[in-house]
Amino acid sequence: CGIVGYTGFQDAYEVVINGLRRLEYRGYDSAGIVLENDNSVFSVSKTKGKVDDLVAISGNLAGTAHIGMGHTRWATHGVPSDRNSHPHLSNNEKIALVHNGIIENYDTLKIMLTEKGFTFQSETDTEVLVNLIQYIMDINEEMDFPTAVRYALNEVFGAYAITVMHEDFPGVLVVARLGSPLAIGLGNNEYFIASDASPFVEFTKEAVYLEEGHMATISLENGVDIRNIKDNVKITPEVQQLKL
Ligand code: GLU
Repeated sequence: CGIVGYTGFQDAYEVVINGLRRLEYRGYDSAGIVLENDNSVFSVSKTKGKVDDLVAISGNLAGTAHIGMGHTRWATHGVPSDRNSHPHLSNNEKIALVHNGIIENYDTLKIMLTEKGFTFQSETDTEVLVNLIQYIMDINEEMDFPTAVRYALNEVFGAYAITVMHEDFPGVLVVARLGSPLAIGLGNNEYFIASDASPFVEFTKEAVYLEEGHMATISLENGVDIRNIKDNVKITPEVQQLKL
């Protein structure tokens, strides 16, 4: 139900956890976080319950990373549980994804992926999408990560806001939106992602609201690159000045 992402110079754990607290008003049943440390290794922590419950089991992650993302879940597919909480990892454990919304055709995709040998830890529609991205990269060895996310999104129906990270593409956050809101905060040598601007308004007043059917690849190195999910046409972002 809520998404927060961060890349920059601050402690990503602090930014993501505090951001999730700002989104608590939206309602949720579970919370989770994934951080990528400076050696490009993921740490995932997630639990049924409140952000406080997440903090209780993940405090050791404080100060370990400058990039990461978090999620508060409002279950639609699969009961509220630790395993159904986001982030979800792909079978090869290299791709992490958080998702708000519903992937309507997850069941047909799940059958296809199961036939290809994929296994699933959760009952969620979300875990199907992260494995679809892995599958597309498996069969297209030279394909880069944002392109694989784009291809996967062109295979799904439904509503989503997602943020995705890949261990082999360190420093990169890929976000996309269709039917669920997502805002990108533009800081000085830092970027924020959130379901609304409240998690980052204390750090920057400049934001881009991702539009329907658009995705963005975000990194400190290359900034914010926005594309149309359907045809990969580059979009010039409209930067808003927040008055909050
Ligand atoms: N459909 C997903 C799930 O049930 C995401 C729900 C949400 O928007 O939080 O896990």
